Amino acid sequence: MNKKKYYVTTAIDYTNDVIHIGHAYQKLLADVLARYHRQVGDKTYFLTGTDEHGQKVEKSAKEKGIQPKEFVDKIAIENKNEWNKLNISFDRFIRTTDEDHIKFAQEFYLKAKANGDIYKAKYEGFYCEGCESFKDESELINKRCEFHSNKEIQEVVEENYFFALSKYQKFLENHFKEHPEFVWPESKRKEILSFIKSGLKDFSVSRQNVSWGIPVPDDPTHTIYVWFDALINYLTYGIEENCWPADVHVLGKDNQRFHAIYWPAMLKSAGYELPKTILVHDFISLNGQKVSKSLGNVILPTELINKFGIDGTRYFFLRYGPLTNDIDITLEKITESYNADLANGLGNLVSRVAKLCEKIGFGGISKSTKFIGKVDDSIESFRFDNALAIIWDKIKEIDVSINKVEPWKITDEKKLTGFLQKTCSQIISIAYSLTPFLPDTSKKMLDIFYLDKIKSSEGLFPRLG
Ligand SMILES: [Zn+2]
Repeated sequence: MNKKKYYVTTAIDYTNDVIHIGHAYQKLLADVLARYHRQVGDKTYFLTGTDEHGQKVEKSAKEKGIQPKEFVDKIAIENKNEWNKLNISFDRFIRTTDEDHIKFAQEFYLKAKANGDIYKAKYEGFYCEGCESFKDESELINKRCEFHSNKEIQEVVEENYFFALSKYQKFLENHFKEHPEFVWPESKRKEILSFIKSGLKDFSVSRQNVSWGIPVPDDPTHTIYVWFDALINYLTYGIEENCWPADVHVLGKDNQRFHAIYWPAMLKSAGYELPKTILVHDFISLNGQKVSKSLGNVILPTELINKFGIDGTRYFFLRYGPLTNDIDITLEKITESYNADLANGLGNLVSRVAKLCEKIGFGGISKSTKFIGKVDDSIESFRFDNALAIIWDKIKEIDVSINKVEPWKITDEKKLTGFLQKTCSQIISIAYSLTPFLPDTSKKMLDIFYLDKIKSSEGLFPRLG
């Protein structure tokens, strides 16, 4: 089999924000893709990291009386720990303060400039510090940013370098037409395309009064605008590892314009290939409220892991998360899904069948590398929720068949062995199909059902009260 290359990224998290379940959801989607592609034998690259420059970081560090680098060092470690605890299998954790990235971002800037796309002009307008983004007056609601209504918008007048995005309008329209797979899902593709058609304006790619950033290589009185710098991280790693273009960029809808409009234009300008697909997910709210630092309702992934375990947490979000719609979660909802689908569903099935096998010394099932039904197709078309629904239908089907056959009443040994053979093979296919989603659980199941003499063990998912 020919090994294919597969490169997946997440957005890199801004170090002035506290990461929460929304960020965790995004990392999980990318993790499923990475694990799946490794499982089917593709040469896989998975990048995540932190976005560390910008005005807000500079300010926060100052408030704490420390240097910006010291400030971001601490956050980068904390973020990385959260992802490790959630079993996110990234290959590199990139930081925009990494030497290789700084050098590469400067080279990229000069390439775009050499192509005639960067020029100096006066910027007069609005800037949202929350987004670290320039805003058009038409984008404001009651003179405030739609994502940061609790903050006053800044009015700025400064001389900046601009990127000639308007030059790329036709190019982007054509690219969207020729590559319907460029943005997923379709609803987001339409939304972005209609924004492009409404007319693109050049955007500022440098800041004059922000010192915490990468210096503009041919004019160090400016620093490179934090978004321009951050987007390039995907390419820094991609070129180093020779895995560019990215197959999928996974990100939240607040970042869709940067990734699906600015980024492809920047790449075209600097002479690089475009990523194949931008996967945009929706948002999670918590008990009916937006998850945000200012509201103080941030839930760290680790808090959920302490209650539901790693795979209990992974399961809920991958099955019921905001893939194509905003969702509201409560701890009750997660507990319910945990008890119904994991404790009573999968966990119960595994312990029930393992006990039957143990009783008669059954085992020695041959290995399988088969996905159930269309689980693999569902993953490749990003329907992680459907993939898990297919697996859980199968779990139900096996349960029903056990209740019907009542194997504990079968006295004919050949008949019983035949039934267990079939059932255990199905469970092994379930475990194989679960590998990208619930890696620990999948491994535990295979460890039980590949034994020469299957042994029952402690329940996989103890019921929660
Ligand atoms: Zn904002």
